[in-house]
Amino acid sequence: MTGILVYAEASGPEIHPISFELLGKARELAEKLGLEVWSVALGYGISDRAPELIYHGADKVYVYDDERLRDLNVVAYKNVLVELVKEIKPEIFLLGATPWGRSLAPRVAAALDTGLTADCIDLQVSEDGKLIQIRPAFTGNILAHIETVSKPVMATIRYRVMRKLPRDPSRKGEIIVCSVEKIDCDGIRCLGKVSERRINLADAEIVVAGGRGLKKKEDLRLLEELASVIGGVVGASRPLVEEGWISKDHQVGFSGNVVKPKLYVACGISGSPQHLAGMRDSNIIIAINIDPSAPIFRHADYGVVSDLYDFIPKLINYLKERAGKSVETKMM
Ligand SMILES: Cc1cc2nc3c(=O)[nH]c(=O)nc-3n(C[C@H](O)[C@H](O)[C@H](O)COP(=O)(O)OP(=O)(O)OC[C@H]3O[C@@H](n4cnc5c(N)ncnc54)[C@H](O)[C@@H]3O)c2cc1C
Repeated sequence: MTGILVYAEASGPEIHPISFELLGKARELAEKLGLEVWSVALGYGISDRAPELIYHGADKVYVYDDERLRDLNVVAYKNVLVELVKEIKPEIFLLGATPWGRSLAPRVAAALDTGLTADCIDLQVSEDGKLIQIRPAFTGNILAHIETVSKPVMATIRYRVMRKLPRDPSRKGEIIVCSVEKIDCDGIRCLGKVSERRINLADAEIVVAGGRGLKKKEDLRLLEELASVIGGVVGASRPLVEEGWISKDHQVGFSGNVVKPKLYVACGISGSPQHLAGMRDSNIIIAINIDPSAPIFRHADYGVVSDLYDFIPKLINYLKERAGKSVETKMM
């Protein structure tokens, strides 16, 4: 029996949560297509985490635990994955559309001479048993339904769009410890990490995002202050990133991060389709905009028609006063 292979992304011994989401989807597809669910984990010190992949839906886990895989060297990882795929011949190969997955997947697909559908938001099975990959196209204005004819069918899937299965420690599966004699990385050597991602926007529960309604870079401090008062992180529309006011890690939207926080506060953001593509699934959206006809208001749960320079300092003061009062009340 052949299967659906899921790449379990790991940095150090920690498996990225997207891997469990992919396993949940793979399980659903496998039932419909009569396939097994396989997973592959690469890294150093990763073996102990392999059972988690079974608890979340894998039937078989291929583990490459090797000190030479400690660094995320994309060429070395690509070579190991290509060899495995050639050997076990999965029907479908899924990877997360994380920065790392987006770097790895096209290299693997090119080496296997197969297609790759990037950034999928859903996978379905057609009536005649074909895998249909669904992804936004034309900056999110349409959803393309894509069928790949080459094998394996390869796709990257966006983070937080699939549902993981509840962890089931009673699930049984097979762990296959693999080894590679020579880890070929074509002369690439990791000299060290230059910078870490400073924020994890995709997992944030509260995002305070700024757009071109801000007049200058220094005014982002206002949003930082609001974010710190309500326990959130700062996001931004693309023009602010392009101006170099804030790093790309903070960009929300079609070509940035997709966020699904409990609360999204859009400050001086018009609500372009490309921005909405990254935040429209937020639980509660508050928009602060001086222009009552700004499209963002059509998607907001609460709209504040106001100059953000007037409204946000007042909001911060109000929230601080309230927090102060509740501390006083508790102390009495
Ligand atoms: C291929 C492609 C990909 C893209 N990807 C992204 C993406 O990932 N993310 C993204 O954000 N954009 C993206 N864009 C850009 C997108 O099309 C818009 O240009 C961008 O989202 C607009 O950003 P904005 O809302 O900050 O600016 P604007 O559209 O200029 O809106 C500024 C808003 O601020 C309001 N405002 C002005 N002054 C104040 C004030 N004092 N107080 C309150 N409100 C005020 C205005 O009324 C206006 O509504 C992409 C574009 C393309 C072509």
